Amino acid sequence: MDNDHIKLLQKLVSFNTITPSCIDAVRFCEELLKKWGFTTRIHQSGNVPNLMAYLNRGSKTLCVAGHLDVVDPGDGWTYNPFELVEHDGKLYGRGTNDMKGGLSSAIIAIRDFIKQPSDLSIMILLTGDEEVMTDNGMKSLMNYVTQYHNDFIIGVIPESCSPKNSGEYIKIGCRGSMNINLTSVGHQGHVACTKNNHLHKFVDTVNNLVNFHIDDGNSEFEPSTLQLTSIDVGNSVRNIVPNKITAEFNIRFNNVRSPNWIKQAICNLIPNTITANIETLSEPFIGCSGEWQRKTQTIVETSLNKTVNVGTAGGNSDAQTLHKYMNVVEIGSPLSQAHTANEFITRSDMDKLRKLYYDIFIGISILIKDRNYC
Ligand SMILES: [Zn+2]
Repeated sequence: MDNDHIKLLQKLVSFNTITPSCIDAVRFCEELLKKWGFTTRIHQSGNVPNLMAYLNRGSKTLCVAGHLDVVDPGDGWTYNPFELVEHDGKLYGRGTNDMKGGLSSAIIAIRDFIKQPSDLSIMILLTGDEEVMTDNGMKSLMNYVTQYHNDFIIGVIPESCSPKNSGEYIKIGCRGSMNINLTSVGHQGHVACTKNNHLHKFVDTVNNLVNFHIDDGNSEFEPSTLQLTSIDVGNSVRNIVPNKITAEFNIRFNNVRSPNWIKQAICNLIPNTITANIETLSEPFIGCSGEWQRKTQTIVETSLNKTVNVGTAGGNSDAQTLHKYMNVVEIGSPLSQAHTANEFITRSDMDKLRKLYYDIFIGISILIKDRNYC
């Protein structure tokens, strides 16, 4: 195996692509894919650059989708986050794990795949805002793309999503997400003469929420979870009871309860002295089921020569949008490294993923030859 996937990763990491500053990386990928015969278009939506690259080889299209943007490196780095550094088999840099590593392996696997005879067309979709997920990324790109293409059979996202080992998990969906904001406004006063401290009642309510059991999950999804993410009073003075306190929560919910059921249950726990704002950010979904799920699992297990799990654990991604247009699976590096300081992917995982993606593309290509199947 050549080192081209590592070289591509090195190049992609060198672009500082904190959302949505991806135009240089998008242009680089565009030039690369043009050389391989792809028809390309940069789809700029608002301040987000996205790339569509299409290689026409037949009436069925395989979609490979990913994001070029990364989160801010933050503090605590030993290395320059925007320069790929290898140490002890680990390749360090912002985005190496989420998801420039998987993407580089997938793009080079595509290059190798298109050298083989196949009547599978390929659509590569790269977005610039997945970490923030405005409407200007995958949503806007798919609105554009589907004006011309609606023959997608399956989408593969080489996203950082594996609970353990690279490639050994097929993510087929995701729980939904809901934000809750609570605000209590009471009386500001001296701590020595306050009788009914509204903060106390507020903390009781916070407790009731974090102890609220939503469901036990099901065969497709883990149990729904509610997490407290912030409590703020903005008070630096020790002898004042402040007049305002807020708390923020996030719920990751499955399809056992409806968003409305959850909202109502939450509201029942909140006294009317506290204001609640509840916003559903995304709904739970299953992006790949039935025959395609089983076939994909077989291809992956044959390639790796071991059994792999299929599930919906982990965070949201562009699959949230893509699944509305096609079957979609996410397969990639371990999620535990995503967004960390000194983020890395191992060289051996890069090699492993490159081979796996190649085998997946070949496997899907063989499947669609059987016209009865499609
Ligand atoms: Zn990602």
